[in-house]
Parts: sequence; structure tokens; C-alpha cells
Amino acid sequence: MNKLPNHNAVSLFEQPITALPGVAGKRAALLRRLGIENWQDILGWFPRDFEDWNNLTGFEQLVDGEEQTFVATVSRKPGASRKGRLSILRTVLRDAYGRALPAVWFNQPWVADRLVKDQPYIFRGRIKRFGSGLSVQNPSFEVFDPEQSSGGGIRPIYPLTDGLSQGIARQLVQAVLPRLIGHLTEPIPDWVRREHKLCAIDFAYSRIHQPKNWEEAEICRRRLAFEELFLLQAGLYLLRQSRRDQRPAKARAMSDPASRAYHQVQSSLPFPLTAAQQKTLDEVRFDLNQTRPMNRLVQGDVGSGKTVVAALAMLHCALCGAQAVLMAPTAILARQHHETIGRYLSASGLTVALLTGATPAAERKAILKDLADGSIQLLVGTHALIEDRVRFNDLALAVTDEQHRFGVRQRMRLAGQDDEAGFAPHVLVMSATPIPRTLALILYGDLDISVIDEIPAGRQPIQSYTARSKDRERVEKLIRRHVSEGRQAYIVCPMIEEHAQTDLESAVGVFNRLSQAVFSDLTVGLVHGGLKPAAKDEVMNRFIKGEVQILVSTTVIEVGIDNPNATLMMVENAERFGLSQLHQLRGRIGRGAHHSICILMSDSDDDKARERLKTLCRHQDGFAIAEKDLELRGPGDFFGTRQHGLPPLRVANLYRDRELLAAVQASLKTIFNTDPMLDSAQNRPIREALAQRYKAIFSQVGL
Ligand code: ADP
Ligand code: MG
Repeated sequence: MNKLPNHNAVSLFEQPITALPGVAGKRAALLRRLGIENWQDILGWFPRDFEDWNNLTGFEQLVDGEEQTFVATVSRKPGASRKGRLSILRTVLRDAYGRALPAVWFNQPWVADRLVKDQPYIFRGRIKRFGSGLSVQNPSFEVFDPEQSSGGGIRPIYPLTDGLSQGIARQLVQAVLPRLIGHLTEPIPDWVRREHKLCAIDFAYSRIHQPKNWEEAEICRRRLAFEELFLLQAGLYLLRQSRRDQRPAKARAMSDPASRAYHQVQSSLPFPLTAAQQKTLDEVRFDLNQTRPMNRLVQGDVGSGKTVVAALAMLHCALCGAQAVLMAPTAILARQHHETIGRYLSASGLTVALLTGATPAAERKAILKDLADGSIQLLVGTHALIEDRVRFNDLALAVTDEQHRFGVRQRMRLAGQDDEAGFAPHVLVMSATPIPRTLALILYGDLDISVIDEIPAGRQPIQSYTARSKDRERVEKLIRRHVSEGRQAYIVCPMIEEHAQTDLESAVGVFNRLSQAVFSDLTVGLVHGGLKPAAKDEVMNRFIKGEVQILVSTTVIEVGIDNPNATLMMVENAERFGLSQLHQLRGRIGRGAHHSICILMSDSDDDKARERLKTLCRHQDGFAIAEKDLELRGPGDFFGTRQHGLPPLRVANLYRDRELLAAVQASLKTIFNTDPMLDSAQNRPIREALAQRYKAIFSQVGL
């Protein structure tokens, strides 16, 4: 792929911040803390909000606690004093009627020299009650221009860090803007801008920092949000395209006898596939027959039956004489998949190997040898173990379960697995985090997507209820009833990473209370992240075998575990979980023919929290729940940026701007249909903008 032309404009954008007057040492370090290193970063230092300097307030309208704007003069030069390490400036401001308002500045000694007696200024600051009167604290100000009687327009408020002020931010932005405006390349094609009524790039980047009014600020914001989504999405599409250009895969076409064997295994399954499973499998097997490496995401709600799809795809490869591997995020899950897949494929006579951290060294060595010479065709294991240490003889397919645990980078590394001959494996990732399609395209824009949007017939819907501590006795009776009917129960305690210790205690505490008192006559088990894998495995296995009746756990059971005999789940402090996470948890029950109940314990009186829990009780569909979750919590919490490895969005909001996102995707579809590598003169600016802004992510493909 072509490199960026290194013309002058680029070096201008890469000027370090220290090339600006007044930026060195400490200030440069503070800016770096905000991720601002060069002029380009300053250009992208967008206001997080605006303050309205248009509404001038008379002194009689000042209100304690409010941030207000008013015109006043300074009656005397501010006097300085100190209190310990605090420097304090005080003066009195007067309005046109001579009414007084004390003003105070903390640790801003330079203010004293910038205020001239009797000169009118516009002040803006927080009003505070002091004894019987009001005063204003740390007001910002500027010379009042009576011509401009409507006030001072609206002012940007920048995201800051301790030690930087809005004044400094504005100053830096204003220093950089005039030098860069005019050198910006418009990445959005004209026809797209016209179609979606987007303002020009120079206007957006300059006026967003100094809009005349709210309307203008929104015009700029909308364009910048569009641009942000446009570039991110275009980058992801390009990533996908470029992979198509890279090493080919082997087409895994089946011979007739292999095809017969395949269908025989499929008809030996304990159930017929749902239409959605079959459709997904058809898409996957179609991809396996191509020399373009498959990069497909299978999205399906919990319990939609993704495992069997993976198993049959693996079988397809094995029957072609090649190898397939499935990677799971935890040892427990790997072990379970190993068993399940072995069972699904038992009619094939093929064996499935298992590789986890608990695999004894000798066995491990034998497995590695057999993988290298091709005598093992099917492997299940933990992600970490397989990712880079295993040599395959002829790897056709790598499946990753519970994709949401892995980011873009990891995914790319995975696809980097290849054999000696330089063929890429086909890659299939499975995720149970249901997300609306538009968002899936942002998160997984570099993947093709299949959706299993159907739950196998005969499943009983899970009934979910909220409960409070005072209902505990009744809930415990309910648990006992399920157990006495031969069923099993999960009790889930919250886990927050930063407080792993307290969470552990909470799970241990619950376990002790239940096993020693309330259910002392039953077998209660405990799993949490602090256990050694082998110990965790042992408890889980006893639970799956039915020896443990009640399993107390942290969220380690969130992913994948399948025990159709478990019919009751109680979640402690349910308000601490995200909706989608609760939905995932709840997906551990309702997997068999028995009626299942989920109890969400919460004493929270927070309206929002209660509404979220009610949403969960009302809805069964993971997509509807995800949509609601997104609405209630916003996309930041929903995804947890770091998990998916994408750059944070600075202007766009994936929830609020979802219509804009749909418009972006529609435009890009048109663009990529005719110019898949963005090579045309018209589309080159998109490539250039991507290279400039998303270097870290896209450099891996030579962008
Ligand atoms: P998930 O998509 O959450 O990974 P699993 O693959 O674990 O779902 O399947 C959930 C349960 O549904 C398992 O017990 C599995 O045997 C069962 N199952 C899968 N497909 C079907 C089907 N077509 N008909 C009936 N049961 C199915
Ligand atoms: Mg699963």
C-alpha cells in the first residue's frame, strides 16, 4: 500500500506542542497527560461543552451556587494575601448601578495585573453565599465591548487536567488554529457532505472553538461527529479489505464421501438445527470453500446454540483432512467445550484433544507433537496457550469463543497464525454480547457478521423478578424447593476488578453463611477468580455432574457454562451489574426443559437502577436489552473502550448519534462498492486522514 506523501502540511501537524510560546516543562507534561503531544492533537482538543456568555445577569438576579455571567467594573486593584500555600486575591466588583459584589481568586496571582480599575469586563463565575451577602469565586473575565451588547457569545469548555485552565486551553487552541486552518484536507467526499448537509472542514474546526451561537456549535459538532465515525468505520472496512489482499487461505472443499460423512454426523445430533443455526453454518461453510480467509463473527444471544455451529465447522475442516482449533477464554469453558464438541461429533469417530494450563507436561508434549504431524485434527484449549505456542500441520480454521473478551489487536494476532506454506487460517469468532447491528459494524467493522437470531424451540422463558433483603427468607425457600425437585441453583456475587479483595470476601461470606447455616444439609460449592484453575475446574465439574447443588460464585461463570439442570439463579447486589452482563449471567439457566427463575437481589432505591432491573424482568431478547442498556448507561460503560481496542470517540456519541452512524455506513457502502481500497483520487484523502489519525491501529496493515 502506498505511503503518505510527506508534504509540508504533515510536518506542520506534527509540530510538537513545545514549539508553541509558553509551552515547556511542566505545562507540556500536563498536556501530555491529556494525550496532547503535537499541533494535530490540539486541533482535536474539542470542547466538551460550552458556556453561554450571551445571557448577562443583573446583580439582582444572582443566585447562590449558580455559574453566572454579568458585566461589572473593578472598584480597586485586587489585593493579595496568603493562607498557607494558598494565594488569595480579593476585590469588589460593581455593576452599572454601583451595586457591589465581592470577588475572590484562589491561586491565580496573575489576575491582579490583568484587571484595570473602572474598565468594564464581562465576568463569569460561580456565585457563593458568604455570611449575609453573595460573592463570586474564581471568575474568568474579558474586556466588555458595549457595541456587542448581546454579551460574549458562547465559549468552549475544554476537558482539562489539574494544573491547566480554560484560559490556557483557549490560548493554545487559538495559537494553533490559524496556522493549520487552510492546510486541512477534507476527507469527506463532496457528494457525501452535500447529501448529509455537513459543513466544510475549515469551518468546523475553527468555529467549534468559537461559535457565534448554539446553532453554529451544533452545526460544527455534527460535522465533526460524522467525520469521526466516518474515519473510524472507513478504517475498519479498509482493514477488512486489506486482509483480503494478504495471504490467501486454502479453500476447504469437501469430497463426496466427506460430504456424506458430514451429513451423517449432523443428522446424528440430539436435535435438529434451528433455521438460524443452519443459515449461519451455510455462510461459514461457504467461506471455508474460498481462498479468501474467512473473518466472520457469529453473534447469537446466550443459549442460541453457537457451540454446535462451531463444532460442525470444525468437522468440515477435519473431513477435508485439515485441522481446526477452538479457543475459549477460561479453562472451565475449554473443558466444557471439549466435552460438548466431542459429544456432538461422536458419530464421526474423530477425537478432540484438550490443551489447558492443567494439562500435564507429558501429555502436553504428546499433543503438540501430534498437532505438528497432523495426527490430531481437532483441538480445544485456552486462548493464551494456543495463540502463539502451537505448531499445526495444516490449520484450516481457528474459532474463538466469547469474542467480546478480545480486542481488535488480539484478533489480528490470531489471524496471523499460519502454516509453513504461508496460508492463512480461516477465522471464526463467536460472541454472545448482542449489540445493535449499527454498533456491531463499528466494533467489528473488520469482520463479516452472521447472526443467530433464534432460540431453539421448546425452551422455557426465564422468569425474572426483583427482590429485597427482606424477601431473603422466601427466596431461600424457593431455592430449597428447586433443589428438592432435583434441580440446581447459582448464587452470583458481584465482582469489581478494583476491589477484588472485598468481592472475594462477599462471595466467601455468602458461601459460609449458606453452607454452614441456611443450607447446611445440602452441598454448596464456591468458585471465584482467585482459585487455581484446577480447583475451579473441580468445583465446576462437580456442579455440572450434579454433586454440588448450590453454586456460589463471582462472575467467573458469566461466560458459556452449560448446565441444563440448573434452574434458579439469585444475583446479589444486582444493581452493580450492567444489563447485558446480567442477561449473560441469566443465560446460565433456562437451558433445559425445566422452568427457570432468576431473582435479582437489590436494595437500591435509585430510580435508574430499579428501572434497569425492571427492563431485564420484562425482556428476554438480548438485543432489546442491549439497546436499552446503551440508552440508560451510554456507550462508554457499555463497551468499556479498552476491551475492544478502538480509539475513544471524542465527539460522536454512539448512542445519541446513531442516525449519523447509519448515514456514515450508508455512504461508506457506496464508496467501498466502487473503490474497495480507496485508491481513487477522490477517495485518497480518506486514506490520508486515516494514516494521520489512527496510526496506532491501522499501521499494522501498512496504512
Ligand atoms: P450459546 O450460544 O450460549 O453458546 P450453547 O451452544 O451452549 O449456546 O447451547 C445452549 C444449549 O442449547 C445447549 O444445551 C445445546 O445443547 C442446546 N442446543 C443448541 N442447539 C439446539 C437446537 N437446535 N435445538 C435444541 N437445543 C439446542
Ligand atoms: Mg457459548
